[in-house]
Amino acid sequence: MPTSPHLLRQWDNEFVWHPFAPMQSYREENPPIIERGEGFHLIGIDGCRYIDGFSSLWCNVHGHRVPAIDQAIRDQLDRVSHSTLLGHGQVRSIELAQRLVQLAPAGLNKVFYSDSGSTAVEVALKIAFQYHRQKPGGNDRRKLFVSIDQAYHGDTVGSVSVGSIELFHHVYGPLLFPTLRVPSPVTYHLPVGFSPETYLQHCQAELTRVLDQHSEEIAAVVMEPLVQGAAGILVHPPGYLAEVRRQTSQRGILLIADEVAVGFGRTGTMFACEQEGVSPDLLCLGKGLTGGYLPLAATLATDPIFDAFLGHPAEGKTFFHGHTFTGNALACTAALASLDLFESDHVLENVRQTIPILQQELASIGDLPIVGEVRARGMMIGIELVADRQTRRPFDPALRVGHAVTLKARERGLMIRPLGDVVVLMPAPAMPADLVRDMVARTRQSIEDWMRDS
Ligand code: PMP
Repeated sequence: MPTSPHLLRQWDNEFVWHPFAPMQSYREENPPIIERGEGFHLIGIDGCRYIDGFSSLWCNVHGHRVPAIDQAIRDQLDRVSHSTLLGHGQVRSIELAQRLVQLAPAGLNKVFYSDSGSTAVEVALKIAFQYHRQKPGGNDRRKLFVSIDQAYHGDTVGSVSVGSIELFHHVYGPLLFPTLRVPSPVTYHLPVGFSPETYLQHCQAELTRVLDQHSEEIAAVVMEPLVQGAAGILVHPPGYLAEVRRQTSQRGILLIADEVAVGFGRTGTMFACEQEGVSPDLLCLGKGLTGGYLPLAATLATDPIFDAFLGHPAEGKTFFHGHTFTGNALACTAALASLDLFESDHVLENVRQTIPILQQELASIGDLPIVGEVRARGMMIGIELVADRQTRRPFDPALRVGHAVTLKARERGLMIRPLGDVVVLMPAPAMPADLVRDMVARTRQSIEDWMRDS
C-alpha cells in the first residue's frame, strides 16, 4: 500500500533534515512532495504539476523519465549496478572516460570519478596540492589556492575553504585552510569610483598582484568559467577567463575550472571553457553529467599532472582518494545515454536557438520596478530584486523577497529556487522554447503577484 499523502507530510517533517533549509520555515510552508516527473514537469503527491524551472537544482538536462536513459539504466540493471573501481575496471566507467576525454577541452586526458560536485572540486584541490610536490623539480611550497570573491564550489571542508559566500561559509571559518581571494569582475554592485571598464582592469590587476606576491606558493586558481552560479548568476565579462588562464600559465600555477554548474550545455556550449578557447589543467564536472539522473562527478586532468602520480607503490606517489560509489555503473550508463542524446536530439542547437528567444522574453521582466538587473548567459538566468532600482539598494534580507517570489511561482505551477534576492531560472538545456517562454511569463507574473500583495 502506498504511504498516504498525510503520512508522507508528517514523516517528512518528523524524519527528514532538508539541505540548505531553515527547517522551521520549511515545515510552515508545506512545500511540495514530489511523487513523479513527466518530461519537464514534476508532479506532487497532491497531483499538483510544476514546470521544473530550476532543472532539479541545475542538473536535469533532457527532462524526467527520458525513455532512452530509462532503458539504458534498465539494461544495465540486468548486468550489474555497482562494482568498485578500486583495483578493478568497469565497462561503463571506461567507456564514459573515453567519451569525456573526446569532448573536453584539449589536453584533459585522464578522468578521476567521484560522486558529487563538491567531491569533484575536493579531488581537484588535493591533486593540485600533491602534483606540485611530485612533479619533476617540485617542492612543498605550493599550498595556497586562489579563488574568486563570492565563490561557491561545494560543501565539503576543502571546497568550502575555497568558497566565500558569507551566509553559507562564515560559520566554518575556524575549520578551513587559508586561501587567497581576488575580486569578482562583475559590475552590478560596483565599488565607488569604478566604471565597468575600470573595474575589470582593477580585477585583472588584483589577480596579477596576488599571483605575483605569492607566485611560488600558489598551487592553483579555482574558478567557475563565465558564470558564478551560486553567487547569484554573476556573469563575468568576456576575456576574464582567458586572462586567468594566461596569468596562471605564465607562473606555473594550475587552473582548476569548476564546470559543475556551467557544464553540459548550460552556457550554450558543451563546456563554458570552450567559449574562450581555454584548456584548464583540471576540470570538475557533476550535476548534468548524468543528464541529472544519478549522482556522478568527474575531475579531468592533463597528462603531466597524471604522470606526476605514476610510480611504484614504494615511491609514495599514489593518489589516495576514492569514494565507495566512485564511477558507479548505473550512473556512468546514464551519463553515456545522456551524451548520446546530446547528439541525437541536437541539444546544444536547442540551447543556441532558445537563447535569443529567452533574451527577448526576459526584457519584459527587466522593466518591473523591483527588478534591478536581469543577468543571463545561455540558459542560466538571475533576476536580481532590489528595493530601489535607482540606487540599487537591496531589500532587507529579513523580508526574504526572493523566496517570497518563488512561493508565488509555486502557486502558478512553476518550481524555482532563489539565491537570496536573486530569482534563478535554470531551464534544462533540452527544454523546448515554448516552455521556456511560459516559464518566463510565469516568473514575471509571480513578481507582479508579490508586488501587488506586499
Ligand atoms: N561547484 C559548483 C559551481 C556548484 O554550483 C555546485 C553545486 N551547486 C558544486 C560545486 C557542488 O556540487 P554538489 O552539490 O553536487 O556537491
